[in-house]
Amino acid sequence: MILLGLTGGIGSGKSTVSALLASRGAVIIDADAIARELQAPGQPLLVTLAERFGASLIDESGALDRAALASIVFADPEALKDLNKIVHPAIAVEMDRRMKEQRETDNVVVLDIPLLAENPRTGLSGVVVVDVPVDVAVSRLVEFRGMTEDDARARIAKQATRDERRAIADQVIDNSGELSALSDQVEAVWQWAVTLPPAADDAGNRVPTP
Ligand code: ATP
Repeated sequence: MILLGLTGGIGSGKSTVSALLASRGAVIIDADAIARELQAPGQPLLVTLAERFGASLIDESGALDRAALASIVFADPEALKDLNKIVHPAIAVEMDRRMKEQRETDNVVVLDIPLLAENPRTGLSGVVVVDVPVDVAVSRLVEFRGMTEDDARARIAKQATRDERRAIADQVIDNSGELSALSDQVEAVWQWAVTLPPAADDAGNRVPTP
């Protein structure tokens, strides 16, 4: 298993890059997608969240009211800490389980981890950072995600800076241009990735600190 860490700020294009890598044969392990799965109706994690943040976070269909949770933790650093303490270890365990399934294969496995710069991990074969100027990320989040400009800027301000992310990168993908330019860069990254040494034996055995 060749194990790539893929990261980038909110709206930088991680999911788009993941999809392009998947079309070349990569196996994607997506921290946000796992978080959504673990918070689906009926999952035990929802009970824990309701115990900490109140039963009103679960709507009558049994689904998590994400907007309500987001507004609680956005305004309250202690609540955010508690949320991370509950959710991050559960995500890490599931990511580890999926990595272990791949360990003996020759696959390129991509860990899509939005907060990799904030929570570094060792044992990766390489790290790919998707980089865009803040203004580009903001305009895409407003145009395609329906966020307000203020909300997009506030979320970006809470994340690592571009410099902090680029400092952990083996490869930087510049996603400020057209999708065709992105695709060309992903092809180059793929050609690089397949030459990398396999991940260290202990990769994925650690639960990263939230
Ligand atoms: P998040 O951090 O919210 O998960 P992300 O980093 O995964 O976001 P994407 O979802 O891949 O980012 O991209 C954000 C939005 O910008 C999407 O709607 C995507 O289709 C669009 N997008 C990505 N790259 C480009 C590009 N080069 N040109 C135009 N639109 C793009």
